[in-house]
Amino acid sequence: MESHPVTTLSLGSLENVRDRIRLAAERAKTNPDDVEILAVTKTLSADCVWNAWELGLTQFGESRVQEAEQKRAALENRFPPNRQPRWHLVGHLQTNKVRKALETFDCIQSVDSLKLIRLLNEEAERRAQPVSCLIEVKISEEPTKQGLPPESLGGFLDQCTRLSFVRIEGLMGVAPLFDDCQKTRPYFRALRTLFDHYRSFFVVPRPILSMGMSPDFEIAIEEGATMVRLGSILFGPRS
Ligand SMILES: *Cc1c(COP(=O)(O)O)cnc(C)c1O
Repeated sequence: MESHPVTTLSLGSLENVRDRIRLAAERAKTNPDDVEILAVTKTLSADCVWNAWELGLTQFGESRVQEAEQKRAALENRFPPNRQPRWHLVGHLQTNKVRKALETFDCIQSVDSLKLIRLLNEEAERRAQPVSCLIEVKISEEPTKQGLPPESLGGFLDQCTRLSFVRIEGLMGVAPLFDDCQKTRPYFRALRTLFDHYRSFFVVPRPILSMGMSPDFEIAIEEGATMVRLGSILFGPRS
């Protein structure tokens, strides 16, 4: 296995991020408790995940199936049964890794095609265990970005109502990177509009709007994010 940089999250930096979340939620007139932190631990070691969990973080995001699988294996039996973390896949999922992904993750945030969600449904049915998903919407014009085109979302969600082993909990999006993070605002606003419009499709008590990363999470919260995906601001820059 490749070597991991030694980084540990300090209570001070976590408290600092929590303060900033609280202030952004206040600006948006929402309850700060309704904004969850997804700690993105890609490239970090299993010990790092453990340390973050001990400081109170309970949801972890990874972008590669195999890397997450290894970390989960390294941490097996360490978390008490009543305080198991929730693992989210935030990176692109190849269709040939669906089976492994369902063994490894509790939520697939990067669902962006009918082919993929049908395979997830099939595999979840085989396991007799529904899978939680977010639909990744392409809110940025950058051709390299993943996601379902916004104009396809309505038709897509209609098709998904027939898939009884996928539970769609909400939407995920990645804004383009700007020097001035204020420029991300219209992208987050557009995703929020879609989230409100299609809310009836999200069959959980508290649907998830996963948007905002280290450079722009405060803007995302002001625009209605219920989950921010934070890596470098918690753990320092990735090598
Ligand atoms: C890496 C990653 C993040 C975290 O990025 P930071 O800028 O380090 O906070 C969030 N979301 C996705 C989809 C990622 O790939």
